[in-house]
Amino acid sequence: MEIKNVVGKGLGVFATAAKKKGDLILDEEPILHMQWTSNKQFTKACEYCLSFIGTLEEQIELFYPQNNLKLPLQNRAAPKLKNEKISCDKCSEVYCSTKCKESALNKYHRALCIDLDDQKFQNYKNFVNHAIALNRDNFLLTAKVYGMFVQEFRKSKDLEKALKPFHHFMKTPWTDIVANYLNEPKEISQTALRESLKFLKTVLYEEGLETIFTEEFYDNINGMLQINLAETKIYSPFNEYSERLQDFVDAETDKQTLEDISAFAKFLREMSEKVSNFPYAEGGGVFANHHYFNHSCVPNAQNGVSSWKDGVKEARATVKAIKDIKEGEEITIAYVGSELPVLERRSMLKDLYTFDCTCSKCISDLSSM
Ligand SMILES: [Zn+2]
Ligand SMILES: [Zn+2]
Ligand SMILES: [Zn+2]
Repeated sequence: MEIKNVVGKGLGVFATAAKKKGDLILDEEPILHMQWTSNKQFTKACEYCLSFIGTLEEQIELFYPQNNLKLPLQNRAAPKLKNEKISCDKCSEVYCSTKCKESALNKYHRALCIDLDDQKFQNYKNFVNHAIALNRDNFLLTAKVYGMFVQEFRKSKDLEKALKPFHHFMKTPWTDIVANYLNEPKEISQTALRESLKFLKTVLYEEGLETIFTEEFYDNINGMLQINLAETKIYSPFNEYSERLQDFVDAETDKQTLEDISAFAKFLREMSEKVSNFPYAEGGGVFANHHYFNHSCVPNAQNGVSSWKDGVKEARATVKAIKDIKEGEEITIAYVGSELPVLERRSMLKDLYTFDCTCSKCISDLSSM
């Protein structure tokens, strides 16, 4: 694929070779990613890659405490879970592998944890608690961006170089976005932003970093994340487990196992009455290339939010061809559901992504109204 300018649309992605329906066009890991705070109470996932960690029993305990359930035929029917659970040496963050732990440390976690003295470590906790109390996960993701800035700056003493990974992203003040699209009074978000920055400054500020600790800069980085964020989602291993369990039930003769299976089946029925599904691991991140794909209401590709890596599912951005694509053709995905009524679809695109769609489906739908 190649990224180039499209008249009237800015940058877009083009096929440098023909693609067949089903071909994988993109599969990339996030530059930065976080699991939503509210999601952490239902699923235990790796701080870095979002893959489920721990055992199935531990996962089930989170959303169905004290259940006394025995999970039957786990060896055969359960999907593989990373149960290594590697903790940070200093804080309570948990990783699925040494590789993820090292990646987090090398990118941002050193500046936000290991390198902090006791006072600053406490200051960071205060920053996190402030964001959680206000229900503003965006500040937590922004802190990771700042962690990246600071770590690179300490290495190279070159702020320009440190800011580079985020240079090409669209930036709009976050306080404008929440005022315009989420209809929130600007004073509220401005106060939250100001307080949050004050906390973060007590953690990361040092000489040479004056420009990134201005309110305007902090506002823009928060806005950049809001606009360019791709939501990620990893389906619960229990979905696969309960499906595969069916394949083994008929052949099973052990009495105890059969009892466990029927207890588990009862649990599944109760679950499906209360909630429609097992909890996913959910979060959001920014990706280097994913955001270049333009929208079409008749897309030739589809984006995904997780992918297999080393035998487990983790947060990655994927784009797959859903039609045959010719060499030189633009590759497009649908930002909003193509099946939505034309006016609803277009107003969502306008509100959330600030453009008027000019695709062939919009033109024909509008003319037939
Ligand atoms: Zn991981
Ligand atoms: Zn830590
Ligand atoms: Zn359209």
